[in-house]
Amino acid sequence: MTKVLAIGAYTEEEGAALAAAFECHPLAEEREIANLPHPLRAEITGVAYKGHQGFGAAEMAHLPNLRLVANYGVGYDSIDIEAASARGITVTNTPDVLNDDVADLAIALWLMQGREMEQASAWARSGRWAQEGEYRRNRKLSGARVGIVGLGRIGREIADRLAAFKCELHYHARSEKETPGWRYHADPVALAEAVDVLFIALVGGPATEGYVSKEVIAALGPRGVIINISRGSTIDEAAMLDALEAGELAGAGLDVFLNEPQIDPRFYALPNVVIQPHQGSGSVETRAAMARLQRDNLAAHLSGAALLTPVN
Ligand code: NAP
Repeated sequence: MTKVLAIGAYTEEEGAALAAAFECHPLAEEREIANLPHPLRAEITGVAYKGHQGFGAAEMAHLPNLRLVANYGVGYDSIDIEAASARGITVTNTPDVLNDDVADLAIALWLMQGREMEQASAWARSGRWAQEGEYRRNRKLSGARVGIVGLGRIGREIADRLAAFKCELHYHARSEKETPGWRYHADPVALAEAVDVLFIALVGGPATEGYVSKEVIAALGPRGVIINISRGSTIDEAAMLDALEAGELAGAGLDVFLNEPQIDPRFYALPNVVIQPHQGSGSVETRAAMARLQRDNLAAHLSGAALLTPVN
């Protein structure tokens, strides 16, 4: 009996591991659920979810015996948690195993943007270094005044790395945390006023949409830089683009965007923006750990054991 639906673009290795562990039916996209024969849909009690279109009440309604949606990723903003809870469906995610990779990438974005590493590399590769001499001066980063919006699992790892860079650390979250003297700001605008670089490590979803608002961006000012590894939705992207184009914001390092991968083409024309294709957790080792945790949650569900990382 088929019990698990694997939705999304799994690698060959991940697909094979799912097939070895479960009676598993693969589907490329959410919208294909409706086309499955009813007896098959009725057998599904678990979904291994790696989709992008969204998994909401409509998808759940097609799977009358669904009890678990095991998400591949810590961010579960594409799953309707309220609809799941209302139907007695538990959602799990893959927290912690990706913290290091995502924090590493945030630091790399900061370094690449501030030290103009893409432009400096192009300077050397094009022969201009040999012909015209040294690359132009850029910005000292160690010791900077930095702010973190969202001091959760990933935000904390970013902060720990920035501490090693001798930075003055400020942060905003819904509640003050126990920290080694980092300064808490209850108001994100006040945080932006106090720092030159803002790292965004919030959860995505409706509650944090546009959280880094036009006002926060204005408070950061023309020397300010935004690094975002959370979700495109957490920033007022139009306001950020306006500020970047007008020189009212010095730059940005971004791994996440609205409407990715069809991102706003205005980004491509901005030399002060470092763009990454949402690859924060994209190392071989971390993706393997995420896939394993997803399978472990499914296995726990099917054997009646406690789920490892439930979110509702
Ligand atoms: P986490 O531990 O839950 O931390 C999230 C932070 O967001 C917390 O500080 C929390 O504040 C804050 N927050 C949550 N809801 C909020 C609200 N309504 N208003 C204001 N602040 C709110 O999550 P995490 O594991 O660090 O992951 C953070 C996010 O990173 C994920 O949700 C995902 O979207 C993103 N991510 C991106 C990549 C990538 O490839 N770029 C990879 C993994 C994750 P409190 O501390 O006050 O609760």
